[in-house]
Amino acid sequence: MSTNCLFCKIIAGEIPATKIYEDDKSLAFLDINPVNPGHTLVIPKNHSENLEEISEEDLCDLIKSVKRVGGAIKESLSPNGYNVGLNNGSGSGQIVPHIHFHVIPRKEGDGHKLWSQGKYEEEEAEEVASQIKAKL
Ligand code: AMP
Ligand code: ZN
Repeated sequence: MSTNCLFCKIIAGEIPATKIYEDDKSLAFLDINPVNPGHTLVIPKNHSENLEEISEEDLCDLIKSVKRVGGAIKESLSPNGYNVGLNNGSGSGQIVPHIHFHVIPRKEGDGHKLWSQGKYEEEEAEEVASQIKAKL
């Protein structure tokens, strides 16, 4: 547990949450400000801030819980579909520094926006692909 981490406090039961699912490695609970009813956050019990920090083992356990929760949301709430999202780093919109997947059931006309998209300039795609590939 990391002191002063909001989500670690939820895991410890120090702050209330509407829990959906819990096992040894992960916890899922309703987001307090949902895009739609059923919007759920799935978190690892081991504190990690982001995708860089979390171990592969914890990440595997976490994504299994995301799949399980997503399936339950789909069967119970019958949304048109659901988004699985991860804000990784403050520049991406991550506010709580304890890694968490959002599972967001969607309904027509809910107004939820995805990212805006653009076009590459000539050779820009090759350049940016080379930069990324050099670090893999
Ligand atoms: P992010 O911007 O990806 O870090 O998302 C953090 C999410 O945590 C937001 O969607 C908040 O609504 C949600 N949140 C913050 N505090 C609580 C809380 N006490 N219980 C449930 N969800 C929370
Ligand atoms: Zn934490």
